Amino acid sequence: MAKDYLVRAIAREANIRALACVSTGLVEEACARHQASPTACAALGRALTGGALMGALLKDGQRLALKFEGDGPIGKIIVEADSSGHVRGYVANPKIDMELRDGKLDVARAVGKSGTLTVIKDLGLKEPYSGMVPLYSGEIAEDLAYYFTESEQIPSAVGLGVFVNTEGVVRAAGGFLIQSFPPRDDRLIEKLITKIGEMPMVTEILREGKGPVDILDIIFEGTPYDLLEEKEIAFKCNCSKERVEAALISLGAEELKRLMMEDGGADVKCEFCRTVYEFDEEDLQTLLDEISRKIH
Ligand SMILES: [Zn+2]
Repeated sequence: MAKDYLVRAIAREANIRALACVSTGLVEEACARHQASPTACAALGRALTGGALMGALLKDGQRLALKFEGDGPIGKIIVEADSSGHVRGYVANPKIDMELRDGKLDVARAVGKSGTLTVIKDLGLKEPYSGMVPLYSGEIAEDLAYYFTESEQIPSAVGLGVFVNTEGVVRAAGGFLIQSFPPRDDRLIEKLITKIGEMPMVTEILREGKGPVDILDIIFEGTPYDLLEEKEIAFKCNCSKERVEAALISLGAEELKRLMMEDGGADVKCEFCRTVYEFDEEDLQTLLDEISRKIH
């Protein structure tokens, strides 16, 4: 399969920043790992794609997390992304599916229309930056656009799409993020809003074999822009046996002894990628020894 990537562009005359991406592979991988229903897959896939786009706005080493906490049946969606194009995420109840609405996956009903979107950015400062807005529609893209406009005061348009076929296979996923900065050219912004309103769905464009640059060409038709960067994006989790060991050690000696006695070991599953780390009695004893070495 072709690799996922995003492009970053700028329309200098108009003070507009633009990003677009294809994320079919990473959404497919995430949904397979989480065995997500088509609707949960679309919701998670849109959130992951949004995370990948937002990650591209970070500087080296910075990270961000998106938390969609709606009152819908699939529960919260958590996505983490970094500046190097890596993204991971999960949805609380991935197996829950919804009836189609007008022939489309009903993401808004699955996520819920009431709730919050929290964006946390680890910018390498003492305290992480955090912004929260009420969910706008539960459609994910509109929620992110609302967050940017309200919380960061950057008027933004966001389009995110995941196309899942009748067999539940992800056939196309991608999105765009357009942001305007002062001094703003209101007439041009109006033109772009109209273009975005009239353009085909992102997944339609991608399913024609087109890519992120074609998405920008459609939006910026008649407005010159410069491509600044093209970058690979991928589903990647940073969990490891060492991290899980550290987490187990932090539970303390009592809890580790209980796991040994009652369960004869511990299976720890990473929420983000579903990798299972197995610890038998001997492994837990090694961790206990480590704790007592630290104490004495
Ligand atoms: Zn993991």
